[in-house]
Amino acid sequence: MKIVHSIEDLRLQLAQAQRPSFVPTMGNLHEGHLALVRQAKPLGDCMVASIFVNRLQFLPHEDFDSYPRTLQDDCAKLEAAGCDLVFAPRETDLYPQPQTVKVHPDTSLGDILEGHFRPGFFTGVSTVVMKLFMSVFAGKAQGAAVFGKKDYQQLMVIRQLVKQFALPIDIHGGEIIRAEDGLALSSRNSYLSPEERQQALQLHLALRDLGRQAQASANALAEHLPTLEARAMQDLQARGWQPDYLTVRRREDLQSPQAGDALVVLGAARLGKTRLIDNLEI
Ligand code: AMP
Repeated sequence: MKIVHSIEDLRLQLAQAQRPSFVPTMGNLHEGHLALVRQAKPLGDCMVASIFVNRLQFLPHEDFDSYPRTLQDDCAKLEAAGCDLVFAPRETDLYPQPQTVKVHPDTSLGDILEGHFRPGFFTGVSTVVMKLFMSVFAGKAQGAAVFGKKDYQQLMVIRQLVKQFALPIDIHGGEIIRAEDGLALSSRNSYLSPEERQQALQLHLALRDLGRQAQASANALAEHLPTLEARAMQDLQARGWQPDYLTVRRREDLQSPQAGDALVVLGAARLGKTRLIDNLEI
């Protein structure tokens, strides 16, 4: 496995590849990331993972500075998972000048849910992913990239980006990998105190309950959902969480669902200082 830091070296290493496969990450890797690497491996002739904590997608009060950076460990895990090439740019490699040209996703998708509570988040994500895609795939006839369903809305934003810019990249979704108790693996789980870790599954349980209730009122879903969602938020709040949203949406575009739509339940909530997200397709 090779490790490169500059776009130039990345392109040199990829010169012979015809169809790279790619998994972008912010590092501090766990089984969720490694499952994406294993999924990506057979999709191309050179499996590339990137590790870059992207300042553009953090708000000033968020955890950019304290985000865990564990490059050596990450590289060992990637090699064991079958990764061929790691792209770990320094900030000046990816952003030699302030990145003033940005990719703005459609507001109807990019400004709801995560985008509402983290303004500019999906512009930061879309911009870095576009730049990473250009770095990995420029000059290639075809490529593949894998994104986790853990960040469900992000996966949809990226699918839309690829479609709208006609990029020759197949986007694959990876299933959410969970701890034994069901908590979705996340680099941010390391911020939880032992007590909070015990409690953390409550978000997932709340989403499961909300999903069950939504299915039980499938005939009058639009009518019942606001009450069900408000109650789910109140219940979680009563357990000491600060929920941003718990909501049932149609999978297709994350808008409010009508009867018969395929559904996904999504949630984001803060437990102490840690903000967790989770979702499940129902
Ligand atoms: P991050 O390093 O948090 O930016 O995540 C990099 C990629 O890993 C994204 O596509 C995430 O959706 C994905 N990912 C993170 N956690 C999980 C998980 N528990 N299961 C599956 N994919 C995940």
